[in-house]
Amino acid sequence: MKVVLQNLTKIFPSRNKKSGEEVVAVNDFTFEIPDGKLIGLLGPSGCGKSTTLYMISGLQKPTGGKIFFGDDDVTELSPENRGIGLVFQNYALYPHMTVKQNILFPLQNLKGADKLPKDVMLERAYEAARLVQIDELMDRKPSELSGGQQQRVAIARALVKMPRVLLLDEPLSNLDARLRLQTREEIRRIQKETGITTIFVTHDQEEAMSISDMIVVMKLGVLQQIGKPQDVYDDPANLFVAKFLGTPPINVFSGEVKGGKLYLGEQAVLDVAGVDDRKVTVGIRPEGFVPDANGPMICDLSNVEIMGRDVSVVSKHAASLNPQIRSIVDADCRISVGDATVRFTLKPHKVFLFDTETEERIRF
Ligand code: ATP
Repeated sequence: MKVVLQNLTKIFPSRNKKSGEEVVAVNDFTFEIPDGKLIGLLGPSGCGKSTTLYMISGLQKPTGGKIFFGDDDVTELSPENRGIGLVFQNYALYPHMTVKQNILFPLQNLKGADKLPKDVMLERAYEAARLVQIDELMDRKPSELSGGQQQRVAIARALVKMPRVLLLDEPLSNLDARLRLQTREEIRRIQKETGITTIFVTHDQEEAMSISDMIVVMKLGVLQQIGKPQDVYDDPANLFVAKFLGTPPINVFSGEVKGGKLYLGEQAVLDVAGVDDRKVTVGIRPEGFVPDANGPMICDLSNVEIMGRDVSVVSKHAASLNPQIRSIVDADCRISVGDATVRFTLKPHKVFLFDTETEERIRF
């Protein structure tokens, strides 16, 4: 089921009558989520991810704009009538019910023509449980399950009604690091097996990048960029997106373009033919630095951290806007910790230029 958001906007009225400042939580969102894909809604706290998800679910009413599931305009429909499955961060299972009763609950609440015979309900509940691999635990209470198992029950409960769209709000936040990794793979598997269009909210860029077909990056209620995770990483539209994606994060410098060359301080570090002379903000991905004894970029070496396959080189440069530069280089590159400086050649496709005022990308 394709989901289309058309000029979707949510404005919360001010709580403070004096200041009168309203909050534009979601500002004129328009985008299309293709059928059967897993989409990660991504951005820092307060950027409007949850509000977007709740509007898609029907739990919150938009101030403006429309939501379509396929060709159906669902903007005015209640959550029960949209055909969604919703999973929250805190699982929200009924503690006094067994796993089986929790999963059956949404089916038992179906009314009128939607009502199902008991054996069909049971069959569906076991099918959903098998999909998330908890069919052995059907007679336990939630308190007798691990966090990861509880989250699987919550997913089974969302799947049992065979939703048109599955909505997941930070579903992994309450899990420890190992379980997070495992559960996100599970979510991906379940999504692929069912083919249900799934929208997944997270502030964790690594999580979103690793399992999403597409990511939607948001900032202060405004859509920044939408695309395949690798495409967005390789081709960020602005400085915010470049900084938000990537571990370690992108290194940011203040630079200047003169005569088709990019200068960081006095050093001409890269040819950027076609860019007019101007001041720029420069982003260089950690993997964009190649150690080179004759390289044009000269940094003060602080530390070399061995990470096995790669080496993390920590250095400083007067034009850097971060306290230190972190570059990831191949472990075969021998860099002596005792050296005062380290020289680099830059990989052009790992260097991005941005307008210093608007922070929009300048392409070269
Ligand atoms: P988080 O990752 O912290 O959950 P988020 O990206 O999901 O953040 P939202 O919860 O969608 O962000 O909130 C977006 C903005 O709307 C925030 O500034 C928030 O304070 C504001 N907001 C959310 N709900 C309400 C509300 N009921 N009344 C007033 N303002 C709200």
